[in-house]
Amino acid sequence: MQDSVHVGLPGREYDILIGPGLLAEAGKHLSPHLRRPKVAIVTDERVAAAHLATLEAALEAEGITHAALALPAGEATKGWTQFSRTVEWLLEQKIERGDLVVAFGGGVIGDLAGFAAAVVRRGVRFAQIPTTLLAQVDSSVGGKTGINTAQGKNLVGAFHQPVLVLADTSLLDTLPPRDFLAGYGEVVKYGLLGDAAFFDWLEVNGPKAAAGDMAARVHAVTRSCQMKAEIVMRDETEQGDRALLNLGHTFCHALEAATGYSDRLLHGEGVAIGCALAFETSARLGLCSQEDPSRVRSHLKAMGMKTDLADIPGDLPDAAALLELMGQDKKVVDGTLRFIMARGIGAAFVTSDVPRDVVLSVLGDGLVGR
Ligand code: NAD
Ligand code: ZN
Repeated sequence: MQDSVHVGLPGREYDILIGPGLLAEAGKHLSPHLRRPKVAIVTDERVAAAHLATLEAALEAEGITHAALALPAGEATKGWTQFSRTVEWLLEQKIERGDLVVAFGGGVIGDLAGFAAAVVRRGVRFAQIPTTLLAQVDSSVGGKTGINTAQGKNLVGAFHQPVLVLADTSLLDTLPPRDFLAGYGEVVKYGLLGDAAFFDWLEVNGPKAAAGDMAARVHAVTRSCQMKAEIVMRDETEQGDRALLNLGHTFCHALEAATGYSDRLLHGEGVAIGCALAFETSARLGLCSQEDPSRVRSHLKAMGMKTDLADIPGDLPDAAALLELMGQDKKVVDGTLRFIMARGIGAAFVTSDVPRDVVLSVLGDGLVGR
């Protein structure tokens, strides 16, 4: 049931292996990338408790020595304090230029460990073993690494591509359902932005994937990785097309800021709501038919996901304040908001030509629904 995606960036190409049971074979897959049989694993305490023993046994089976640093679980870890701790730990492990750092966890660990690998000794190689759906379909692919600062999320970082990604879909069995569905928000995003047939497939098979059907999970992760890889190969450093991956994200970032980056709204939940809002805006601009936003919302609802502003618990600021927060998004170029709009399902494009009052009315109507 295993599949793979090749990321063909010249000089920095790598494979993403996808399927159940890859963690138990990690030693075999990592070996060809090692110049000496030694790795440094960065993980979080929750992932370590559930899965580190399997990874360690897989390494030992291939005679690879290992040390592991388990950081506290959660977004708060992705900051200067745990970052400098990680960098110093890697130096204490006497990690050399030819060695391999293994980022073993969700997006928090992938971003932090990848950034640490990018700067230790001016760059050591690293492998990603993503353990959340969000990390398997999004954060482990494409080479963006970094941490948050007091000024905002992901403001410090580096482009640093991994040498290998091992996405073991059986690890998703221990993921809380809410985190699974949040990651699914990014999966839906891929269908919506560029592959109508994939969205059709998700309408039928998304519920199976959520219920644990392994073949459905493998296909959902594989198609998502293919799409991200294709876009990253066209535009690694986000000069153009890579912005399509931000479908739903300008809305999402405003909602995350408005809810204090708290448990009230997980990132992928905000992406799903943001995609629904982007399609609603596109329909009001006459870019796509009114049926498209309805179809997007029906699928999210069928998955049991947050779909509308009304689904976010607690108070939200008014439409004008939300629009103001959208303007603080880091995708703003020269003060102009760039939107990802759609001409239909699977047909997203980048534009700055979206009138303020249309966005205000979409947000205003959504807030009235609360
Ligand atoms: P996360 O890493 O915090 O993981 C979510 C929770 O799930 C954590 O508590 C973790 O301990 C737990 N967990 C992880 N794997 C598990 C498993 N298999 N079983 C049980 N529990 C498990 O969060 P995330 O949603 O994976 O990632 C979010 C981060 O990713 C954000 O910081 C975001 O900025 C970043 N991100 C980066 C990119 C990129 O391109 N670099 C893209 C999207 C998101
Ligand atoms: Zn996202």
